[in-house]
Amino acid sequence: MWTFHLPTKIVFGAGSAASLSSMPEISGRRAVVVTDPVIGKLSAIQALVKKLAPVAVFDDVRPNPTVVNVDSLSALLRKEKAEVVVAIGGGSSLDCAKAAAFLAKTEDASIRVYHSEGKPIDKQGLPLLTVPTTAGTGSEVTPISVLDDEEKNVKAPMASPWFYPVCAVVDSELTLSVPLSVTAATALDSLSHSIEGYWSKNHQPICDALAKEAAKTIFENLPKVYDNLGDPAARDQLSYAALIAGVAFQMPKNAIMHACSYPLSNRAHLAHGAACAFTMESSIRLNASYMNGRMEEFATACGFSSIDKMIAQITVLKKRGGLPCTLKDAGISPDLVETLIKESFHPVIKNNPKEVTVEDLQQIYKEIAG
Ligand code: NAD
Repeated sequence: MWTFHLPTKIVFGAGSAASLSSMPEISGRRAVVVTDPVIGKLSAIQALVKKLAPVAVFDDVRPNPTVVNVDSLSALLRKEKAEVVVAIGGGSSLDCAKAAAFLAKTEDASIRVYHSEGKPIDKQGLPLLTVPTTAGTGSEVTPISVLDDEEKNVKAPMASPWFYPVCAVVDSELTLSVPLSVTAATALDSLSHSIEGYWSKNHQPICDALAKEAAKTIFENLPKVYDNLGDPAARDQLSYAALIAGVAFQMPKNAIMHACSYPLSNRAHLAHGAACAFTMESSIRLNASYMNGRMEEFATACGFSSIDKMIAQITVLKKRGGLPCTLKDAGISPDLVETLIKESFHPVIKNNPKEVTVEDLQQIYKEIAG
């Protein structure tokens, strides 16, 4: 038995963001735009925001958005009596807006009580439209917001069915300006979503099919984008892959690679996608023999004659994008490994097909010592 649920309307296509201002979800409503200081300065985004004529723009989201970011945005949403929130940016802007759109409809001043103090997320927030400018997180369609509580030193995801955006507008033209390092990290992030959604203990046929399609699309198109960052057709395919990889993991949820990524971001400050990709090859090796031939099927669907060939190509893609493959590359001291392992036992690790032990993680870190 399995279920599939996705209440988010999807509008996909190069140039599709031009229709935002006339969309029924926005038109005639008090809109607040959420973005980050880098994206907010891009001329394409400024033109888009001008057309939207929002009552306010919050452009203060930082990479790995914080509890403080969410609380400030929520206060602005209340002050401006916002009726709709439009998040334009990478996963950081989308996640910040998702949490703040919810918080604004509560009596609470801080998202902290939900993020790390266990208060249940139990109501619909303000309607949220998501407009991704990176091709990676899939946050445009997931009911997940990943936040960093700097005071408590906790970066962790919050998930709730109340977090689904009402609409995702995916326009690959907005990704043409993404630099190489962010392109690589975000593409590897979506590859990690496809793999984790596929091997999660909660996997199911619709998500499996999307996961294979997403991974195949990334393997085919990421090298083209590396060759030419301005290749519109290949960029469009990466946006498509990130979107469907988001759909592929949002129900099964992630597993070992994301569990390991949290301390890698917290302690070693790796970008999210680089952190997810850091243990990818070793995690595939660990899980493959526990999947009854399904990992071989995945590699075949992606056009590889073996799992090893697929693993080799993952390393090539990481290296071409300048992502770290070893502790040495990442500048991580071997002394930190014990802490990284200890802090990798986030609940999502329980979704892994092989039950993960401390010894498994020690083996993984031995393989990537460099
Ligand atoms: P990001 O949003 O942090 O952006 C990375 C950098 O790229 C920023 O400096 C940003 O300004 C810049 N950028 C974004 N779009 C650009 C563009 N079009 N042109 C030029 N520069 C651009 O990065 P991200 O990888 O998209 O998001 C990472 C965040 O998303 C992390 O906090 C991660 O934990 C979270 N995440 C959330 C989910 C989810 O389901 N909610 C899934 C995966 C990751």
